[in-house]
Amino acid sequence: MTAQQRKVLVTSALPYANGPIHIGHLVEYIQTDIWVRFQKMRGHDCVYVCADDTHGTPVMLRAEQEGITPEALIERMHAEHLADFNAFHVAFENYYSTNSEENRVLSQDMYRRLDAAGLIDKRVIEQFYDPAKEMFLPDRYIKGECPRCHTQDQYGDSCENCGATYSPTDLIDPVSIISGTTPVKKESEHHFFKLSGCEAFLRDWLTGKHNTAEQGAPLQAEAANKLEEWFAAGLRDWDISRDAPYFGFEIPDAPGKYLYVWLDAPVGYMASCKHYCDASGRDFDAYWNTDSDAELYHFIGKDILYFHALFWPATLHAAGYRTPDRLCVHGFLTVNGQKMSKSRGTFIAAAHFARYLDAEYLRYYYAAKLNGSMEDIDLNLEDFVARVNSNLVGKYVNIASRAAGFLSKRFAGHLCRGLSDIDREVIAALQDASETIAEHFEQRQYSEAVRLIMALADRANEYINEYKPWELAKDPDQNERVQQVCSTSIELFRILTVYLKPILPALAQKVETFLDIAPLTWTDAKVLLGDHTIGKYEHLAKRIDLKQVEKMVDDNLSEQEQAAATSPARHGEAQQHTVAPIADTIGIEEFAKVDLRIARILKAESVEGADKLLRLELDIGDGEPRTVFAGIKQAYAPEDLPGRLTVMVANLAPRKMRFGVSEGMVLAAGPGGEDLWILNPDDGAQPGMRVK
Ligand SMILES: [Zn+2]
Repeated sequence: MTAQQRKVLVTSALPYANGPIHIGHLVEYIQTDIWVRFQKMRGHDCVYVCADDTHGTPVMLRAEQEGITPEALIERMHAEHLADFNAFHVAFENYYSTNSEENRVLSQDMYRRLDAAGLIDKRVIEQFYDPAKEMFLPDRYIKGECPRCHTQDQYGDSCENCGATYSPTDLIDPVSIISGTTPVKKESEHHFFKLSGCEAFLRDWLTGKHNTAEQGAPLQAEAANKLEEWFAAGLRDWDISRDAPYFGFEIPDAPGKYLYVWLDAPVGYMASCKHYCDASGRDFDAYWNTDSDAELYHFIGKDILYFHALFWPATLHAAGYRTPDRLCVHGFLTVNGQKMSKSRGTFIAAAHFARYLDAEYLRYYYAAKLNGSMEDIDLNLEDFVARVNSNLVGKYVNIASRAAGFLSKRFAGHLCRGLSDIDREVIAALQDASETIAEHFEQRQYSEAVRLIMALADRANEYINEYKPWELAKDPDQNERVQQVCSTSIELFRILTVYLKPILPALAQKVETFLDIAPLTWTDAKVLLGDHTIGKYEHLAKRIDLKQVEKMVDDNLSEQEQAAATSPARHGEAQQHTVAPIADTIGIEEFAKVDLRIARILKAESVEGADKLLRLELDIGDGEPRTVFAGIKQAYAPEDLPGRLTVMVANLAPRKMRFGVSEGMVLAAGPGGEDLWILNPDDGAQPGMRVK
């Protein structure tokens, strides 16, 4: 094994330090951890590092909102994240932080190397600035009306309604979501990484010729196609600086300028590796120099492909480091066929899941679904219960429970020395699949691996059903045969455990204790226990009831509702919902200009071609129903609205939209999407009454 021993450095994307790990994130960490555990079982030198991604505006503002320092916030998040990973048996060699001394040194050095290579450009750009908060605003901190379809309340980079992308300065009536004030345009000098000069290298990298090992091209075909699209569109230089105030690392020799969080985050992979190498006496340079013989694998989600497939290899190469051998890109998680949702209770934190269900069951289910592509995977909760019960417990664990009792009662746990040819034949059938299963794991075709392992479990159960030790046990002359069949069953169970161990490390450990054997490695599938005494069988895994899963989801929903009721600031999908400071003072005469009226919703219907909009017909008591387009479709079903009373702005200038003219505005609160609540007057209010 040593001769072909591979040296592999593996990373998962760095979770951002302003929110908990949820079951969507876990797809990636579980996928990576399975691969790493598999490599280690094969005898390879595989190191898995990760870290919290700590810098940038969201962490800075959230800490401010909580009244603590960013350092205190990220320390708490680090502990929470690590506890979540431990609960799901995700085992890093090092779980570090991007806010570390190693990362500061490496990131600032990276900047200097890029500058020395002539790849840093400085340009004055005009950006939105919040005069109340005295800071430049990231795109996501500005909202306004879409310049194309005129939907209200859209972010500064793109419209959720029509899909348009634009610059924040294109928004109509922009507002800072931090202070609620109107941002002003302000100039500032920014530092750019000249990505436009790196296309030739990136095309070269894409062919795989920079790779350390014979791993082929660094990207799946579908990801490589994305790159071709980006090449065709033309690579744009990358703005890597941010102005103070910013939580991050300063740019060398540029007071008041900070490295953009996306520059120092991937360098965080190196920093975590450095911290690990220094602590364990390994050679950091041997991983990162251009002549490194270590393989470098990054597991990432498809949403951050741009950063990892363009900026990261380009900056590494330009700075004189080695480049990644492979990016393993996965899709998103859906639950019951839909996007994870707070209002359905399916936006589930890792810690919440682990309180209700065995974390390894989720590992098993994800493995059964993951196929190494960028396709989304679905957690269907009924299917989850069915697969755990019928496959994991019913097929696999059942083999041990059927055989162990006879062995301990009749033979003091001794396995039999001599097996029959028939016994050896079924054992060989399971052993022979070893390299095929290994190849599936290597290629991250876990669903194929699981399918094959379960087919082998079927084969084992057929064997037991054919020889029926419980029948043989009734005949004293068959005593030796009972021992043979049960010993064979235990061997089969042990071989299946080898194959499942990357997926189910804790269960495998229980099996090792039960069988009284050393930790299983991949080659153990080929070696029989022979003359060996097993320990006492203890219950290994239990079935789950759909009711348990439903309770987990229901409780999640009610916990989230409670949290929303007591702490509205922390509600919502995105993390930037600070309670916006109160806007500038106005006089009563200014308020009086806004004519608010009680309105009865007469009709509500979907608008073809608009995902977010409902067309409402509103009665405000004057016999002339008003048509209003409201962006509340994700929060309300049209059939639930007719008859309800609400409040509308009746004297808003009519606005021509793609779908028709909107003659006012309905008042609603909340960050948007599913989290929107329209206002509802108390009983007695009548359509047309003025709200003052
Ligand atoms: Zn739009």
